[in-house]
Amino acid sequence: MITGNTRRVQGFAPIVADWRRLWREAVTDPRELLDLLDLGHLAGALLPGTDTGFALRVPRGFIARMRRGDPADPLLLQVLPQVAELLDVAGFSHDAVGDLDARQATGVLHKYPGRALLIATGSCAVNCRYCFRRHFPYAEETAAAGHWRGAIESIRSDTSINEVILSGGDPLSLSTPKLAELTDALTPIAHLQRLRIHTRLPVVLPERVDTELATWLRRLPWPVAVVLHANHANEIDDAVADACTRLRASGVNLLNQSVLLRGINDSVEALASLSERLFAVGVVPYYLHQLDRVAGAAHFLVDDNTARALVDTLRGQLSGYLVPRLVREIAGAAAKSPL
Ligand SMILES: *Cc1c(COP(=O)(O)O)cnc(C)c1O
Ligand code: SF4
Repeated sequence: MITGNTRRVQGFAPIVADWRRLWREAVTDPRELLDLLDLGHLAGALLPGTDTGFALRVPRGFIARMRRGDPADPLLLQVLPQVAELLDVAGFSHDAVGDLDARQATGVLHKYPGRALLIATGSCAVNCRYCFRRHFPYAEETAAAGHWRGAIESIRSDTSINEVILSGGDPLSLSTPKLAELTDALTPIAHLQRLRIHTRLPVVLPERVDTELATWLRRLPWPVAVVLHANHANEIDDAVADACTRLRASGVNLLNQSVLLRGINDSVEALASLSERLFAVGVVPYYLHQLDRVAGAAHFLVDDNTARALVDTLRGQLSGYLVPRLVREIAGAAAKSPL
């Protein structure tokens, strides 16, 4: 029996750091980023001379996990604009995964049976260089851009949809009251059985998992899966581990999806440490994505044979549940396709 309120559970004190302030204080100047890492002298060699059309954005807490003086740091390479992005490579396009064809109502992508993906916002706390988002026309396509009613209506009217995926951009970019407004509107829809949230925020800005967010999660009427996005074990420091603890304490299931990235995690050692680190903080590896062929990201591509060989070796070394499924997204396919 619980004896009153005299005992306080350790480790669950309210989180007071203001994630919005930390968001605003993110580094957006590539030279400042290089200076912070003692790499200022390499600016001329590393940075593209012209605008890549996709700004640098990276929270300071994420920079703190990068190694000083290492231009090949696996976290730095995910966010630093590079000369190679300017190359026009055959087969790398602006709508690599057919999202523009799959649009069902503004802000809703219905590509796979049973699941509707809601583009809740186009914003992210970090700009990942390999992301399809660098070309997506979010200004018109987000459900948040005043189109929520239409998005909700299209989910309500299709009884084949049993799971809503909040995605973006990063849905946790929205304020918690805005998220609650959205889930309140979804709550009366009887055919919904699950909610999923695709987010990188608990990794790049773990302060986002504050008590208000945890309370919202705890009160949701459906079983919830939160699918994180980390590509390298170094992304998961103690602050991220604490955020994962808070997420799990709010009753959600934690999964992770990664992208296979040349020079960042394309080794058995890097992938094995990532899986082990994820599980140590309560997260189960879900997908390892073969890169979407978006213009400007060709330098990150790992060829399919190498990708298969890496995951085969991983399978020989790790517990089965630590081996993510190697998949790619093919425009028009009814599911993520195994390689
Ligand atoms: C990836 C994706 C999903 C989810 O696929 P799962 O295999 O269930 O993780 C759903 N809808 C869209 C549009 C997607 O791109
Ligand atoms: S957080 Fe996700 S959606 Fe945002 S830029 Fe990175 S990969 Fe793309």
